[in-house]
Amino acid sequence: MSINFNDLTMFNHQIIWMSKYCFGIFSTIRRQFSAIWTILGPLVWIRMMKYLRRYFEMYIGHRECRRLNYHDVNDGFIYQKTSIEIHSNCQICLATNFIDTILVIQFLKFFHHYFFNASEQYSSIDSSILYANIISLFHLDPIINLFAAIWIIMIATSNHYLYYKNYLASQIYSVLFKNDGHRQFYPPFKYREQMANLIVRNNLRKISKTFGIFFIAINCVQLIFNLITIKHVHDFILNINHQNLSMDSIFPFMKIILMIINWKILEFFIYIYGHVHLLLAVCALSMLFIFYIKVWQTQRLLNLCWSLIVSQNGRKKFILIMPFICKQMLRFQCYQTNNLQMIKQSWIYFVAFTAFIFVNIPVNCYIIIYILSERGDFILKFFLIMIFLQQTLVIFVFHLIIVICNQHFQQPSICFINLLIRISGFIGKNFKILLKLSNYGQAFHAKNKYGFTYAKLELITMQEFVKYTLLYSQFLMFIYKYVIMQNRQYSYE
Ligand SMILES: [Zn+2]
Repeated sequence: MSINFNDLTMFNHQIIWMSKYCFGIFSTIRRQFSAIWTILGPLVWIRMMKYLRRYFEMYIGHRECRRLNYHDVNDGFIYQKTSIEIHSNCQICLATNFIDTILVIQFLKFFHHYFFNASEQYSSIDSSILYANIISLFHLDPIINLFAAIWIIMIATSNHYLYYKNYLASQIYSVLFKNDGHRQFYPPFKYREQMANLIVRNNLRKISKTFGIFFIAINCVQLIFNLITIKHVHDFILNINHQNLSMDSIFPFMKIILMIINWKILEFFIYIYGHVHLLLAVCALSMLFIFYIKVWQTQRLLNLCWSLIVSQNGRKKFILIMPFICKQMLRFQCYQTNNLQMIKQSWIYFVAFTAFIFVNIPVNCYIIIYILSERGDFILKFFLIMIFLQQTLVIFVFHLIIVICNQHFQQPSICFINLLIRISGFIGKNFKILLKLSNYGQAFHAKNKYGFTYAKLELITMQEFVKYTLLYSQFLMFIYKYVIMQNRQYSYE
């Protein structure tokens, strides 16, 4: 039998093509890993400020991604996401694409666990360990799988927002890390006696260090997962030794590899969960701090006018201070419009916040009841307490901070209208200014007030906060009843 020369060259070509293809995939994965490590590395070592600084520098630094708001004169940037084939050297596109891939896999896993593994026959311990199905492993309610799948959608969306649509990133970066950060505020750049940017910076430093506790907890959980994996790999290997090595012996090895991959995906997912929520929390809190101080500085202008008016009694004196008051009011209008602009630019945090409270109120209630019940072991309870704390902070504390900021923003409207009435008789020839100010006063003092909203739904007010607290307590009772019923069913069986 003779070997055809052409066949041989074709075979060689195929091998070269295959090896090139494999090498291409390998190098893409390697680059994705290095991009992910650049982002998450400091977080693994709990170096919070380095991690934050890196995020902001990556966002506002030189990027290959196409900028979407070229015509915008302000210093905020938004970008377009691109596939890794096109952006093969872009750290952010590489990292976000990798994160998305892992999230899709984990999403399908949760979905699969809910619909197919929920039945008794499949939820054996073996398959739970093999597929890293912690919800069945810890005997939690299968419906948590569904909530976890929704979490993934939220995390993927928030991750996208954080790396492509975070308009306020450059402003927050200046305040937190740059020497001329005070320029982001209004002159005289102070809050009470201190420089405004220093107040935000010091508070955020303390807060992010506190958030570091969550990452110590995540590291502990990772350690536990790794120990679980090692133990099961050990068990699997012992089992293989008992069997006679035959044709089937390759199968258990495949199983081990599959198991390790599944557990690593789960660990990675937990890191991504922490990473996205931490970044959202830090960005949103910084934004709220900056906003609060800016509103305070704006309101001070009106307070100054009032104190002048009160001190000047006579009509003649009043006319003398008139130009100054007009100037202050025009400045107020300009600053307040600027503050309103900030509310508009911070929409990504509020979309994420709204989705978070809608999804997490039921989960949070379930976790409370689970923690208080007799079930579950220590590791699980520790893990749940961490999630519970994080959710409660957002649902109550963060929610309340937004309410306070909104109230603070709407407060000066009455003062402005009063001042306008006071000066309207004295403004005289400056009809243009009067028209401008009264127009603004009407728009600002409307029934539909401006402020931060639940996505595009409603204004976040104290009434809404109370409503959500009531909703929370109702959910708590509902889930308590549900769990009691379930327990009874189990005990009858
Ligand atoms: Zn890119």
